[in-house]
Amino acid sequence: MKMISDRMAQALNAQIGHELFSSNAYLNIACHMDTLGLKVLAAKFFQQSAEERMHAMKFLRYMLDAGAEVAVPEIPAAPVVSGTVLAATELALRQELEITRLINGLLKLAHEENDYATASFLKWFIDEQVEEIAMVTDLIQLLNHAGEAHLLLVENRLMHMGINPAAAEGEEGH
Ligand code: MG
Repeated sequence: MKMISDRMAQALNAQIGHELFSSNAYLNIACHMDTLGLKVLAAKFFQQSAEERMHAMKFLRYMLDAGAEVAVPEIPAAPVVSGTVLAATELALRQELEITRLINGLLKLAHEENDYATASFLKWFIDEQVEEIAMVTDLIQLLNHAGEAHLLLVENRLMHMGINPAAAEGEEGH
């Protein structure tokens, strides 16, 4: 039984692509950190990448449960990441602000369509975006306090916060 409109299904389907794009963008950021030898920061961003994929799967699962057809869209290439750690992290912030704008747009559509089920489903993402933005903002603040010369302090702080470089994506089996 299809519980959502075609327009809503199309918008949710597109969001699967946006979340996967976001996941890939975090992969590029993580790889850049790893290249710089900053393994804890790399682990943090690998973890973020995995979270974004989980978000895509949440949308996919909802669509299936709502009886809508899923077709994973084409994913544009994520931006190449270079330069300072701060610049790469600011890229992450811009990415999260864009995702927030898109999620807000989905909720607006749900309200317009009196689609209470989708509105309820989206609430988790509205809350999640507040957390994501806070997390990236905290990290940017930390990077600014430390400065590029003292990134190991940031790495230490992240370790104390439970980020484990050994558990990073691609490290399994080592
Ligand atoms: Mg997300």
